[in-house]
Amino acid sequence: MSNNVRVRFAPSPTGSLHIGGARTALFNLLYARHNNGVFVLRIEDTDTERSTEESVNQIIRSLKWLGLDWDEGPEKGGPFGPYFQSKRLDIYKKEVDRLLAEGKAYYCYCTPEELAERREAALKAGRPPRYDGRCRNLTPEERKKFEDEGRAYTIRLKMPEKGQTVVEDLIRGTVVFDNSTLDDLIIVKSNGIPTYNFACVVDDNAMKISHVIRAEEHLSNTPKQIQTYLALGYKLPQFAHLPMILAPDRSKLSKRHGATSVEEFRDQGYLAQAIINYLTLLGWSPEGTEEIFGMDKAIKEFTLERVNKTAAIYDVKKLAWI
Ligand code: GLU
Repeated sequence: MSNNVRVRFAPSPTGSLHIGGARTALFNLLYARHNNGVFVLRIEDTDTERSTEESVNQIIRSLKWLGLDWDEGPEKGGPFGPYFQSKRLDIYKKEVDRLLAEGKAYYCYCTPEELAERREAALKAGRPPRYDGRCRNLTPEERKKFEDEGRAYTIRLKMPEKGQTVVEDLIRGTVVFDNSTLDDLIIVKSNGIPTYNFACVVDDNAMKISHVIRAEEHLSNTPKQIQTYLALGYKLPQFAHLPMILAPDRSKLSKRHGATSVEEFRDQGYLAQAIINYLTLLGWSPEGTEEIFGMDKAIKEFTLERVNKTAAIYDVKKLAWI
């Protein structure tokens, strides 16, 4: 029986599946399974320049090798492929049109050069380098002039200028963002493709995601996404940002700290089970002191309350011992 827990792993296919992404996928799956919920895989491939098919294939191969199977997809009945954002552009367009019609979003014709110039000037004058809202209230004549000039445009969502946006994070607690730091959010790029923040919100709502569990690096996107939920009239999901994964010397993980991609481990002969065991304990502490965790046991015990708040330390030498 499902109690409506629905979670997702939403990788951008711009490289192979790394330890961090694999841990995010695993924690989502453990949370779904522990709560008899649903685990969704969504490929966020709207960045057409950086997304590659090879990366999609690698991510899927790695997830399958680790045994991180997802529960649904666009097909009826299965076997399920993942959802691909590139196949959902009509859905985003409908929501963009609604925001434009409601006056909550607007066309912005500022060129990247103009924006950079004004940003510089603001910094020099000691003002915050925020978008100055120049295109917020264009008259029809002004718009026509830009259109006639053949200028490209982005579409921006109006952000509140005052007040605060509060993120109630299941791991981090209450995190408050000052709205004066939020730029009017670009929701459609000049190539007509929706941005990550926008497509992500539309999909999390459409896919009825109850808990957004993702890497801490996205915490700064969350106030932007919350404002997007509010503008679209959607119900907010719960958020949980997983602690960072650092190298033993507490620096950012990189190649010099040993293998970090799942396929590298596979090719070096590691067992998928050893990787799962290691990832389970990377930022999550069970009640007991066991060091060997099968997937079944992890599913039984996994709760977000026991996810650590501080950064996890990734030490490939420890992985070798398990
Ligand atoms: N596509 C994003 C990434 O790969 C993840 C977004 C999210 O989980 O909200 O970093």
